[in-house]
Amino acid sequence: MRHPALDSLLILQDRDGKRLALEAQLKGLPREITAVEQKIASEKAAIESARGELRELETKKKLLDTEIGSAEEKLAKYKTQQMSVRKNDEFQALGHEIDTTQSAIGTLEEQELGVMYAIDEARKKFAAAEKLLKDNIAGHEGRIRSFREKEGNLAVELKSAAEEVAKARGPVPEPVLRLYDRVCTRHQPAVVPLRGAKCGGCHLKVSSEIESAARKGEIPQCDQCGRILWFDV
Ligand SMILES: [Zn+2]
Repeated sequence: MRHPALDSLLILQDRDGKRLALEAQLKGLPREITAVEQKIASEKAAIESARGELRELETKKKLLDTEIGSAEEKLAKYKTQQMSVRKNDEFQALGHEIDTTQSAIGTLEEQELGVMYAIDEARKKFAAAEKLLKDNIAGHEGRIRSFREKEGNLAVELKSAAEEVAKARGPVPEPVLRLYDRVCTRHQPAVVPLRGAKCGGCHLKVSSEIESAARKGEIPQCDQCGRILWFDV
């Protein structure tokens, strides 16, 4: 024997299941959109950091240029002075200054070469970061667009699923509906078959009282988990 409300209850559960699945999909979408937006942001951040690095190096190069320029001026001045001095010790002192300045210029030029090399590398890095975003942005934007479309479609589907649920609730008797709603807050699905004296939800064996009630066509609750049981051979 089958409980008179069982079929309508199972239909309700089926409609509710569809509604819940749609709700879960809809709920997951903003997270997926955020993930893509974060990807775009991190690609943009990589470009900004490469741009910053490049600017820093260019500033460093300009500073070195200035330093080299003033050292060269100094060097030229010493050389001119050296030509006009008469005393040997003054001549030697200037010669020493000239050597020191020349070697300082050498060091600065070496540093500048290193910076120029680093600028080249930074330019490559910047171009690569820019290319990555440029290549991906259409895909990223397309994904976001399709997520938004999906969001709209799901919202429409959900609306009709909710209407189906409301329709399916109609034929279910009030006390059964109350019980179902209560069990639903803890378990999904709330209505499960009882097979071989085992609850189809928690898979534990139910008491013989519960089993015989179900066998008689009642819809008792599992004495282990509280789900609504219906006897299924
Ligand atoms: Zn159970």
